[in-house]
Amino acid sequence: MWASLARCLSRRVTVHPEGPRSLQRAVKVRGFFPLQTWPVPHRCMRMGTAPRMDGATPAIRQVQALDAERYVSVRWEDGSRSLYPYVWLRDNCQCAHCFLHSAKARKLLLADLDVTTRLERVTLTEPTKVSVVWPDQHTSEFDAEWLKKRCFSQSARQKQQEELFLNARHCWGSGLRVPTASFEEVVREDEAAFAWLHTLRRVGIVLLKGAPVEQGQVTRLSKRIGYHRLTFYGHTWQVQDKADANNVAYTSENLSLHSDYPALHNPPGVQFLHCIKQAAEGGESEIVDGFHTANQLRKENPEAFRLLTSLRVDFTDTGADYCDFQVQSKNTIIDVDCDGQVVRINYNNATRDSTLDLPLEQVQPFYSALRAYVDLMSRPENVVTYRMEPGDVVTFDNWRLLHGRRSYTSVPGHARHLEGVYLDWDEVMSRLMGPEDSLKQRGLNQSAQSRALGYSKEDN
Ligand SMILES: [Zn+2]
Repeated sequence: MWASLARCLSRRVTVHPEGPRSLQRAVKVRGFFPLQTWPVPHRCMRMGTAPRMDGATPAIRQVQALDAERYVSVRWEDGSRSLYPYVWLRDNCQCAHCFLHSAKARKLLLADLDVTTRLERVTLTEPTKVSVVWPDQHTSEFDAEWLKKRCFSQSARQKQQEELFLNARHCWGSGLRVPTASFEEVVREDEAAFAWLHTLRRVGIVLLKGAPVEQGQVTRLSKRIGYHRLTFYGHTWQVQDKADANNVAYTSENLSLHSDYPALHNPPGVQFLHCIKQAAEGGESEIVDGFHTANQLRKENPEAFRLLTSLRVDFTDTGADYCDFQVQSKNTIIDVDCDGQVVRINYNNATRDSTLDLPLEQVQPFYSALRAYVDLMSRPENVVTYRMEPGDVVTFDNWRLLHGRRSYTSVPGHARHLEGVYLDWDEVMSRLMGPEDSLKQRGLNQSAQSRALGYSKEDN
């Protein structure tokens, strides 16, 4: 059944004839979940007992209390086993006394949790229900599917984290054909919006075509997500050649590859830029996959990678716009998480401060490392160049992509004009994950979803 569903969805993907690689495909997907469920605000949709994607609830063969380790052992029908610590089970009791279902939030206080609790008995009340009686006679009941999702095995945790955060990325170089979608479809149709945001997460960029050529479109788009992020440059901002520019972007000069706003400790996660008027000459856009190039640096020049992931650099931004501002931040050029995965690039040469809070002997190595990374990202095989046309809205991951702009000729009466807005990933992910229940009802699994978008692993 999955194969035929995937085939059906694959047919909906527009493939560029000149694009042999999977990422050289335009993304234009339609038709996979009901519209009405999209805008409904949900909190913590993942808790509780949503139906499984394949419709089958996992059955349990046997439960057992392992008192020495204080684990409940659950033997599944397929022969596999999951272990659940007593303390975790007690902490996550789903009864109305311990859990507020209307808020999908825990009521039980940590002060009332015996972190070395014993267990009086555990029983299988039906093939999909586990009942635990605690020493104080409090009873907890756990659903098999709920338990299965929260299995503590390395592989189960990895699978669950991927479902929650969509952390797998499709890296790219100059061969990328920027995924495109219709602006109006994304605004109107939930399935188009889902495909847009899913691709934005996986690839880092989607170009929306056909927006009305007037201000206000990035606001429409951010309302599609929920709300935008206000910064000192305003709710939205106009990228134009301005007299006494308070930002280098507001000139006609070349803008070297950068991420926006590392002068904030939490730079905006997502950026939309709407082209209202393009320059007669010049003004082409350049993008680079910052995660991919950081991983290249890690391989080619481990010492430079180590310095850029450990030395904190001062950034500064001063001026007046929405209101007057003077911000200072300290960021590493490349942020990695505790597993060493690259999670954010913070690099803007214009706002890198002259104050450099490094020991004297680290200054030269820092410059050499930064130059090595900039040289690497600027290699032709890493840079994608494209030209925005009026009505185009580029939407991209500002934590991942570096973007730049070639200089342009400013002609009076034909001023280049882009309108931009920032959002954060939390809000975008909320909108992206929100409709999951309806996707599940349609029985779509993760692989069918990604195949529908034209860049699944099988295609790579
Ligand atoms: Zn309880």
